[in-house]
Amino acid sequence: MSPLPVELKRTPARELWIRWDDGQEQRIPFFQLRKACPCATCREKAAAEPARPPTLLPVISAAEAQPVQLVSMQPVGNYGYNIAFSDGHDSGIFTFEYLRGLAS
Ligand SMILES: [Zn+2]
Repeated sequence: MSPLPVELKRTPARELWIRWDDGQEQRIPFFQLRKACPCATCREKAAAEPARPPTLLPVISAAEAQPVQLVSMQPVGNYGYNIAFSDGHDSGIFTFEYLRGLAS
Protein backbone atom coordinates (compact mmCIF):
# COMPACT_ATOMS: atom_id res chain seq x y z
CA MET A 1 0.00 0.00 0.00
CA SER A 2 1.39 3.39 -0.88
CA PRO A 3 0.90 6.18 1.67
CA LEU A 4 -2.18 8.38 1.49
CA PRO A 5 -2.34 12.11 2.09
CA VAL A 6 -4.25 13.01 5.26
CA GLU A 7 -3.84 16.78 5.17
CA LEU A 8 -3.17 19.29 2.40
CA LYS A 9 -2.40 22.97 2.74
CA ARG A 10 -1.21 25.83 0.61
CA THR A 11 1.60 27.63 2.41
CA PRO A 12 2.23 31.41 2.18
CA ALA A 13 5.50 30.52 0.46
CA ARG A 14 3.51 29.13 -2.51
CA GLU A 15 4.09 25.54 -1.66
CA LEU A 16 1.80 22.59 -1.35
CA TRP A 17 2.19 21.02 2.06
CA ILE A 18 1.17 17.40 2.41
CA ARG A 19 0.97 15.25 5.50
CA TRP A 20 0.86 11.55 4.73
CA ASP A 21 -0.71 8.79 6.77
CA ASP A 22 2.71 7.41 7.62
CA GLY A 23 3.61 10.68 9.37
CA GLN A 24 5.83 12.11 6.63
CA GLU A 25 5.47 15.77 5.75
CA GLN A 26 6.32 17.15 2.35
CA ARG A 27 6.44 20.59 0.77
CA ILE A 28 6.38 21.05 -2.97
CA PRO A 29 6.68 24.55 -4.48
CA PHE A 30 3.85 25.34 -6.91
CA PHE A 31 6.24 26.05 -9.77
CA GLN A 32 7.80 22.65 -9.28
CA LEU A 33 4.39 20.99 -9.30
CA ARG A 34 3.48 22.87 -12.45
CA LYS A 35 6.70 21.79 -14.14
CA ALA A 36 6.12 18.22 -13.06
CA CYS A 37 2.61 18.13 -14.54
CA PRO A 38 2.28 14.57 -15.79
CA CYS A 39 -0.29 15.17 -18.53
CA ALA A 40 0.55 14.20 -22.10
CA THR A 41 0.71 17.81 -23.33
CA CYS A 42 3.25 18.89 -20.73
CA ARG A 43 5.38 15.82 -21.18
CA GLU A 44 5.51 16.37 -24.93
CA LYS A 45 6.35 20.02 -24.42
CA ALA A 46 9.15 19.18 -22.02
CA ALA A 47 10.55 16.58 -24.40
CA ALA A 48 10.42 18.98 -27.35
CA GLU A 49 12.22 21.79 -25.52
CA PRO A 50 15.68 22.25 -26.98
CA ALA A 51 18.58 21.93 -24.61
CA ARG A 52 20.02 25.33 -23.83
CA PRO A 53 23.60 26.16 -23.10
CA PRO A 54 23.73 26.67 -19.32
CA THR A 55 24.96 30.25 -19.62
CA LEU A 56 21.86 31.44 -21.49
CA LEU A 57 18.80 32.36 -19.50
CA PRO A 58 15.52 31.31 -20.98
CA VAL A 59 13.37 34.03 -22.45
CA ILE A 60 9.95 33.96 -20.87
CA SER A 61 6.78 35.89 -21.48
CA ALA A 62 5.24 38.21 -18.89
CA ALA A 63 2.53 35.66 -18.18
CA GLU A 64 5.08 32.97 -17.56
CA ALA A 65 7.02 35.28 -15.26
CA GLN A 66 4.06 35.53 -12.89
CA PRO A 67 4.50 33.12 -10.02
CA VAL A 68 2.17 30.23 -10.67
CA GLN A 69 -0.53 29.58 -8.10
CA LEU A 70 -2.29 26.39 -7.24
CA VAL A 71 -5.96 27.13 -7.85
CA SER A 72 -7.60 23.88 -6.84
CA MET A 73 -7.09 20.21 -6.17
CA GLN A 74 -9.95 17.86 -6.98
CA PRO A 75 -9.75 14.27 -5.78
CA VAL A 76 -9.69 11.75 -8.62
CA GLY A 77 -11.04 8.39 -7.52
CA ASN A 78 -9.04 7.35 -4.51
CA TYR A 79 -5.67 7.53 -6.15
CA GLY A 80 -4.83 11.12 -6.92
CA TYR A 81 -5.70 14.76 -7.56
CA ASN A 82 -6.52 16.81 -10.56
CA ILE A 83 -4.62 20.04 -9.97
CA ALA A 84 -5.62 23.38 -11.54
CA PHE A 85 -3.01 26.12 -11.86
CA SER A 86 -3.36 29.86 -12.24
CA ASP A 87 -2.03 29.73 -15.80
CA GLY A 88 -5.26 28.00 -16.78
CA HIS A 89 -3.80 24.53 -17.01
CA ASP A 90 -5.86 21.88 -15.30
CA SER A 91 -5.49 18.59 -17.11
CA GLY A 92 -2.78 17.01 -14.99
CA ILE A 93 -3.66 14.12 -12.73
CA PHE A 94 -1.16 13.73 -9.94
CA THR A 95 -1.38 10.32 -8.34
CA PHE A 96 -0.48 10.00 -4.67
CA GLU A 97 2.51 7.92 -5.64
CA TYR A 98 3.70 10.56 -8.10
CA LEU A 99 3.28 13.40 -5.58
CA ARG A 100 5.12 11.43 -2.98
CA GLY A 101 7.95 10.85 -5.42
CA LEU A 102 8.49 14.55 -6.11
CA ALA A 103 11.44 15.91 -4.20
CA SER A 104 10.53 18.18 -1.32
ZN1 LIG B 1 0.03 19.34 -18.01
